[in-house]
Amino acid sequence: MLKTMMDVDVKQGLRIVRNRIEAACQKRKPELQNVKANLVAVSKTKPAEMIVDCYDEGQRDFGENYVKELSEKGINEEILSKCKEIRWHFIGHLQNNKVNKLLKTPNLYMIETVDSVELADLLNKNWQKIRTESDHRMKIMIQVNTSGEQEKSGADPGTVNGFGTHVIEKCPNLELVGLMTIGRFGYNWRDEGAPPNPDFLGLIECRAALCDHLGIDHVAMELSMGMSDDFEHAIDLGSGNVRVGSSIFGHRNYNDK
Ligand SMILES: *Cc1c(COP(=O)(O)O)cnc(C)c1O
Repeated sequence: MLKTMMDVDVKQGLRIVRNRIEAACQKRKPELQNVKANLVAVSKTKPAEMIVDCYDEGQRDFGENYVKELSEKGINEEILSKCKEIRWHFIGHLQNNKVNKLLKTPNLYMIETVDSVELADLLNKNWQKIRTESDHRMKIMIQVNTSGEQEKSGADPGTVNGFGTHVIEKCPNLELVGLMTIGRFGYNWRDEGAPPNPDFLGLIECRAALCDHLGIDHVAMELSMGMSDDFEHAIDLGSGNVRVGSSIFGHRNYNDK
């Protein structure tokens, strides 16, 4: 009984979030109409059954921010047998000593939180040893600390051009697909007359600078920004990847872990 009720809620939550994403996409400026808005369902602290439920509804991208939790879910038998095309996004702070454990996780699709050149080099080196197909590069994003808060991870915006160039030139086993930010919590973009979220604008600026530096089209580099409270706002500004947890799965209870 309880499980059925849970099922309904998660599927319903997913449908509501998808509808909101769709509506936000339709309101975009004409020049952003061709940008996709991919939903990463952030399943941290939530059980495998909820992930399977979302998968049944067609969801493929899921995000986790602890290596231990992701590596456990990655080899969970139910998920392995029922979610064969699942794409895991790692979205947490990655320590050097957890790199191998992360890279060995089945169906790891993208690491969105690469925050230093040293970490990129380590991923590059170790992915070469772990990957099974020789042409399969690991997709990564550079996490940028757009808010400059000391407790937040991420590369300094001023270093992103050099960082991105390094990954492209020196890390042949990695594929740089975009830039990611978390940003300051609680920015009130809904307030009447409030300017766009400065963290989102900061990430857009970083992308422009990096793409100009590399001589590539801006749309070739994705933006990962927007969470439950502000994914519509992020989509409005051009986010191609929104990471939504509690709006789909309900609030997280960390005491349950
Ligand atoms: C937890 C988390 C999210 C999702 O947050 P919600 O507010 O629950 O949508 C998104 N991004 C990162 C990096 C997270 O750690």
